[in-house]
Amino acid sequence: MAAQGKKVTIVGMGRTAVAAARLLQALGAKPFVTDAASAEMLAAGRAALDELGVAYECGGHTEAAFADAALVVLSPGVPPNLPILARVREAGIGVLSELELAYHYCHSPIIAVTGTNGKTTTTELLRCLIAACGHSVVLAGNNETPFSEAVMVNPPPEYMVLEVSSYQLESAVRFRPWLAAVLNVTPDHLERHGSVEGYAGVKGRIFQAQGEGDIAIVNEDDDWAVDMGVPDGVEIWSFSQRECPPHGLWLSGDLICSGSKAVARRSDIPLLGRHNVENGLAALTMMCAGGFDWDKVLDGLRSFRGVEHRIEPVAALDGVDFYNDSKSTNVHSLRAALESFDRPVVLIAGGRGKGGDYGELRDLVRQRVKMLVVMGEDAPAIEAAFSGVAPLSWAADMAEAVGLAARAATRGDVVLLSPGCASFDMYENFEHRGRDFREHVRRYLQQGKEKAART
Ligand code: ADP
Repeated sequence: MAAQGKKVTIVGMGRTAVAAARLLQALGAKPFVTDAASAEMLAAGRAALDELGVAYECGGHTEAAFADAALVVLSPGVPPNLPILARVREAGIGVLSELELAYHYCHSPIIAVTGTNGKTTTTELLRCLIAACGHSVVLAGNNETPFSEAVMVNPPPEYMVLEVSSYQLESAVRFRPWLAAVLNVTPDHLERHGSVEGYAGVKGRIFQAQGEGDIAIVNEDDDWAVDMGVPDGVEIWSFSQRECPPHGLWLSGDLICSGSKAVARRSDIPLLGRHNVENGLAALTMMCAGGFDWDKVLDGLRSFRGVEHRIEPVAALDGVDFYNDSKSTNVHSLRAALESFDRPVVLIAGGRGKGGDYGELRDLVRQRVKMLVVMGEDAPAIEAAFSGVAPLSWAADMAEAVGLAARAATRGDVVLLSPGCASFDMYENFEHRGRDFREHVRRYLQQGKEKAART
């Protein structure tokens, strides 16, 4: 892929696109960026491109944007079937994803993870484990650092850990990770992929270019993952919370085993919830398959502190523990959070609903939730789903929600923010919401201490 001196058109102007523009510029190409959104919406992207001196257009894709291009690069958010791309392909211009572009310039062995849920937790854990083994490692992909930015790290790290989304895999062709894992597949992004079959097929593309010397790792407990085809010559490992897999790690009671041999304990995974056992098993199986130093892997595992906004411990007072699970943006995540506690939960939920069925959680809420505080656009739907199941209060904002929840909790209880909804009705994103929760918990506890000091 000789980009030197050639025009390369990048579709999309988000952070990933800007990183691709920077990479292409460093390679001596002439990137041009086009985005359908308005100039106002793209203020951050425009500022970054202005600084780089990269030309761009907003508000639509003109034919001129693609004229004379040697290559077209798609940001993950851009559907590969965009009408204008058909004409581009007809003109014989190559179209590839940012994942493929960056892959071409990646000089480190790639350890890649995909799945509907648990990607961030698993990849963060992998980074921690690899670092604990004394290796240099960069974590990139569908998280803070675009892959195109990570491949510019000099010298290249010994390992590149990648969180890969279905959008990124959709047009993957040559992308060949050394170790690749599929965590799970549940219906998601169906508007883009058409059906669960289509979505699972896209996830399975993580394995398609693997070959001799590479290893595919699948969740034995997930039918979609197990059925994914792997090319000849690729070793298959798997992990399970139910049964001993043919080749890999599994949970047997409180022990993590390889075949019949115990290699770690459940309690070595310092994270709450069955879903995090899945993530832990995935990461450990990858480390085992990769032949990393097991004692150091276990040291790394025990030192892992989890990931912000994912059942993150925030504070403890008078026997009440406060947890921030702002990343819970759908019913599925809310279920995972509630199942993680065997103590009474005072739950703060609500936000912009994603159309899921809260009713699925009625039994779980009845068993675990002592009181429910609802807020945001979907508060009426949540109230309707859980009426008669748990006491419920409405809060206008996070300050009120934290106050109500904290006053309802007694020694031994948990106060949990796990909205089960997107945040955009009240916040910029889930991180913003999680920070607001932490701040109000901090203020609430501070006020309590001041009151105690006065009396
Ligand atoms: P992703 O990066 O795939 O969105 P995260 O690690 O950020 O995944 O976790 C997001 C949410 O998904 C968590 O808060 C939890 O509710 C849920 N989750 C995490 N891991 C799993 C898993 N292995 N299975 C089911 N749900 C999970």
